Amino acid sequence: MKICIDPGHGGTDPGAIGKEPFILNEKDVTLSISLFLKKELEEKGHTVILTRDKDVTVSLADRARIANHNNADIFISIHCNSSDNNDAEGIETWIFPGSTVGRKLADPVQKSLVNNFSNHKNRGIREKSFQVLRETNMPAILVECEFISNPNKLKLLSNKDHQEKIAKAITSAI
Ligand SMILES: [Zn+2]
Repeated sequence: MKICIDPGHGGTDPGAIGKEPFILNEKDVTLSISLFLKKELEEKGHTVILTRDKDVTVSLADRARIANHNNADIFISIHCNSSDNNDAEGIETWIFPGSTVGRKLADPVQKSLVNNFSNHKNRGIREKSFQVLRETNMPAILVECEFISNPNKLKLLSNKDHQEKIAKAITSAI
């Protein structure tokens, strides 16, 4: 398959900023996980397109345009969640409201993530009209890998081994 991976945020948009126990920008975590994901998917023989491969600003419209222009078969946007409540935790996958092809893709990805990380809360598959889900022409999902606002999860999200595990869990589902 031709797979478009979208590392959330970047450049002037840091995304959510985790503050405890140290500062961590969502844009750096999403890029790192996405680069691991690219490597894993390519090893399985897939062709991978990234909407960004470094710390640059890319508009939401351009992210969808890149996927559409390249005729990607599926689109995966990688994000970290954030909440004012530092205890908030868990993994969730978003699809465009009512999208059956989106759900067909989200189902195994969400299952694989929660099965590989049994100590992480399953927040399920959720529906919202995010621009990158709405404007992409192929099955599309947005994965919230954990809460960067939760100090314990921030430590995990910053860890390269954990980032690679997330990439492997998503790849096995694909
Ligand atoms: Zn985000």
